[in-house]
Amino acid sequence: MEKISVSTRKRTDFIEITGKIEEIIKIKNVKDGICFLFVPHTTCGLTINENADPSVRMDIMNKLEEIIPENDNYSHTEGNADSHIKSTIVGHSLTVFVENGSLQLGTWQGIYLCEFDGPRTRQVWVKILPSI
Ligand code: ZN
Repeated sequence: MEKISVSTRKRTDFIEITGKIEEIIKIKNVKDGICFLFVPHTTCGLTINENADPSVRMDIMNKLEEIIPENDNYSHTEGNADSHIKSTIVGHSLTVFVENGSLQLGTWQGIYLCEFDGPRTRQVWVKILPSI
C-alpha cells in the first residue's frame, strides 16, 4: 500500500490528487488493473468530479454548507459535527480502473480529496491491483 500526504489550505477545500495517483501507477509500472483509494479520516472524503471549471467544486462545497451548516443543533460538541456528516455523505473510498498505464477517467473528471475540517495534513491510502 502507498500513502499520499495531502495538505489542505482551508476548513473546506477540494484538492486534486489525480496526478499523484498517476505517479504511483507509473512508479509501480502497472499497465492494467484496479486502483483503490481510501482516506483514514472521519472529517474528509474522496470524490470524482469536474476538473475543468472550478465553479463546479465551489457549487458542491457551497451546497453542502447550505444543507449541512457548520453551526446547528448538533449532539457532537467538538465543533466539527458538520464535517463528520459531510464526510459520510461524500464517502471514504474510490475505485478506478487502470488501463494502458493510466487511470481511466472521463474527459472532465479528476480525483479530489474533500477537506471538511481543515486545514490539516491528510493521508490517502492507495492500493493498485494489477490484472493477472
Ligand atoms: Zn469530531
